[in-house]
Amino acid sequence: MTASIVVVGSLNMDLVMRMSRAPIGGETVPGLDFAMLPGGKGANQAVACARMGANVIMVGRVGIDPNGDVLKAGLAADGVDAREVKGLASTHTGVASIWVEDDGQNRIVLAPGANGLLDPASVARANTMIDMAGMLILQLEVPIPAVQAAIDRAFAAHVPVLLNPAPAAPLPDEMWKKIDILVLNESEATAYASLDVVDPNSAAEAGAQLRARGPDRVLVTLGAQGVVVVDGGGARHFPAKKVKAVDTTAAGDTFIGALAAALCEGQSLDDAVALGQAASALCVTRRGAQTSIPYRRQLATTAV
Ligand code: ATP
Repeated sequence: MTASIVVVGSLNMDLVMRMSRAPIGGETVPGLDFAMLPGGKGANQAVACARMGANVIMVGRVGIDPNGDVLKAGLAADGVDAREVKGLASTHTGVASIWVEDDGQNRIVLAPGANGLLDPASVARANTMIDMAGMLILQLEVPIPAVQAAIDRAFAAHVPVLLNPAPAAPLPDEMWKKIDILVLNESEATAYASLDVVDPNSAAEAGAQLRARGPDRVLVTLGAQGVVVVDGGGARHFPAKKVKAVDTTAAGDTFIGALAAALCEGQSLDDAVALGQAASALCVTRRGAQTSIPYRRQLATTAV
């Protein structure tokens, strides 16, 4: 059996409201519709890994409230082991208030709640799971000390670490050296590198800069422009599949889930990127975060 993927990260309930335009200060505008959808980068990536067929363990925190119950039940429905997603009585489950205007523009306010209380001691409860994992995946929607603790543990156990540094935040030098695979989008790459990342050439340059800090493989995702991979073999560009995109939410999370699942099966990096692109291209043709993440059986690609 393939070793499990451990995801340490955030869980949020996305409160999505559509409107013809956002209100200005002091104004009330009518909403067109409303939905509560499971999200959070950690949970999205855990679900994406599971829907690609991986065994997944999620480590995170929610409140003891109905949103937390729904998020945990959602993970369980996808077969994700959520025993280390504990409920905290002192705060609420993370909530993202998302306003979507008719022109597609998003405004998001994130109240981290329990995500903000994930600490090294919480991560330590999962140490044995990390030691036995096929891969550890993290993002930056939970406090850096928790991220650091998980990476240190995985590094000591020779477990490969995939970091998606989103949202971008300063990272200690020694953390960079313990990352095997860094996956980030163009705005995150711009934040960490010394140039604006807008296309495959600038992504290759940024990827080379970031690789020099430690990660063996750097993948810069460029939305509809695809992905640039920088590894020991140099830089190469994989164009995205051509699809009619209706909502790109969770495209990056879907890409990461499929990439990780394929790598843990022993597929080559290029084949894993192909599976990631097939999955994320299907994701952008659907609305929502976790609702839009495809199952492996829905993909038609030679890399499946
Ligand atoms: P998000 O934050 O919304 O999850 P992201 O900004 O982290 O996304 P992107 O770079 O937008 O990630 O997308 C990740 C991958 O998804 C791309 O490398 C590409 O393979 C695929 N993708 C994204 N947008 C499109 C699109 N419009 N058409 C086809 N594929 C797309």
